[in-house]
Amino acid sequence: MVDVNEILAPIRQRDQKELDDIKEAFLFAKEAHKDQKRYSGDPYFIHPVAAAKMLADIQMDTPTIIATLLHDVCEDGHATPAEIKKKFGDEVAFLVEGVTKLGTVKYKGIERHVENLRKMFLSMAEDIRVIIIKLADRTNNMQTLDSVPEHKRQRIALETLEVYVPLADRLGMGSFKGMLEDLAFKYVYPEDYAWTKAQLTGAKHAKEGYLTKVKEKILDELTKNNINVVKIDSRVKNLYSIYKKLLQKDRDIERIYDTIAVRIITKNIEDCYSALGIIHRLWKPVPGKIKDYIALPKPNGYQSIHTTVFCIDGKITEFQIRTEKMHEEAENGIVAHWAYAMSGKRKEGVKVNKDLSWVSELRDWQKEHIGTQEFLDSLKIDIFKDRIFVFTPKGDVIDLPEGATPLDFAYSIHSDIGNKCTGARVNAKMVSLDYKLKNGEICEIITAKNKKPSRDWLELVKTSYAKSRIRSYLKKELGIEVPIMQSGTNQTKHFELNIVVSDRVGMLKDILAVFNTEKININDIHTDMRDRQKPLIILVFPTKSNLVADKVAQKIEKIKGVKSLEKTLLRN
Ligand code: MN
Repeated sequence: MVDVNEILAPIRQRDQKELDDIKEAFLFAKEAHKDQKRYSGDPYFIHPVAAAKMLADIQMDTPTIIATLLHDVCEDGHATPAEIKKKFGDEVAFLVEGVTKLGTVKYKGIERHVENLRKMFLSMAEDIRVIIIKLADRTNNMQTLDSVPEHKRQRIALETLEVYVPLADRLGMGSFKGMLEDLAFKYVYPEDYAWTKAQLTGAKHAKEGYLTKVKEKILDELTKNNINVVKIDSRVKNLYSIYKKLLQKDRDIERIYDTIAVRIITKNIEDCYSALGIIHRLWKPVPGKIKDYIALPKPNGYQSIHTTVFCIDGKITEFQIRTEKMHEEAENGIVAHWAYAMSGKRKEGVKVNKDLSWVSELRDWQKEHIGTQEFLDSLKIDIFKDRIFVFTPKGDVIDLPEGATPLDFAYSIHSDIGNKCTGARVNAKMVSLDYKLKNGEICEIITAKNKKPSRDWLELVKTSYAKSRIRSYLKKELGIEVPIMQSGTNQTKHFELNIVVSDRVGMLKDILAVFNTEKININDIHTDMRDRQKPLIILVFPTKSNLVADKVAQKIEKIKGVKSLEKTLLRN
């Protein structure tokens, strides 16, 4: 049976108190799940343990491991949030609640699903560890998907591919991304999965002896040249990424050279470049296939040198060269950063940092979007695809949405730089402030001490972050209040609704449907769950007519589960 030592093994060096807490959570979860079974017939308890073990393996902090053990205990009423808070403290309770709120594997159609996604991102902006627990949870659910009833499999797998994989990628968690992709691939495109696998098996067998030769040769050469090699290995790339490449190459496996890469892990960066030199001296590089992601990291932080060469017997072979630290980050992304921070001193909660500005932006943005389909579309397109990466003169990467201007760029660096921005040079040429930045450009912001933001800047910026910074400056320093959403005439009034509801699935959806029917925008929406007896939804919406506002309020009052409603006219 499952044993707590499986979780503790990789984290033995932690304080005894922390290990004891994990043991206690283990027993607590075991008791809470004692009457429950997985679809497979296995005891339910093995699921949280498997997920917690994954996160212990990558050195997540202790509260996260505990919360992972407890992540499903509240779901079926076997334990209460209050109990968890009392036994395991606020931090763990907060994380468990975050995960519980996202709901478990109960997908009831697309709307419920999108509502979950919203909640997921909201809690994410508060604490990214909730998402990491979700990734581990999902990975284990995917590992056991075979036992899930068939009609659910496809949908769960597709969602994994469309939502969780981009999230893992965005967080730089390459190992989760690869695992989730391959697990989902099998269910989403079963025929292509089998086909890709078959293509590869032949190719792989032929390559094994060959790779051993290559590894011996390169290790020999590197050692002769005093390069500190930590390890050399070769790994078949994950199936789904090979499949995507096959689709681009007319499904011809012969045209894909990098199904297997030889990976060289060195002690330091100098050794990476020396190793590259040695490889190129031994074998001719394939033109256009050298990528230096050490000098120019990928947007998610990935660093490595890639090169493809005509290797032994002229066979085309890819090499990846990186340091130990880069390797760790490539596998575990954001988690690797915490592991470093934590090995020094205990960290004080995980705040959204600059690297994750897209998270807080997402949070602002999702408040403004009410259409659920629109939300899902934007999630897939805007957030994960239509992003551009613009460089500072020093080479820092700033992540922006397409259509962003130098002002967005300036505010992303610092609000002071935004506020004092007078102009910008892009690739060393002066541009106007409404210039649309393009991927890969280098942007330099020109500032002046006396410069101040003006109201028309709001029209020039694309990101909600820049908008809110400008708005708050105008309000604080100049006393100008600009309504959140500009409207055609100044007769528009803004109303706030405070709605006390019972927490039921689809509540928010039903309320939003009223606005959809009345064709009214919502300027702002948030939920206040602090009092669990009285969850509160607060909405701000514009309308020119008191009658329309009354009608909206009356319709909402009639919705099942709405306990009380208060309508206020907002005045400037
Ligand atoms: Mn779970």
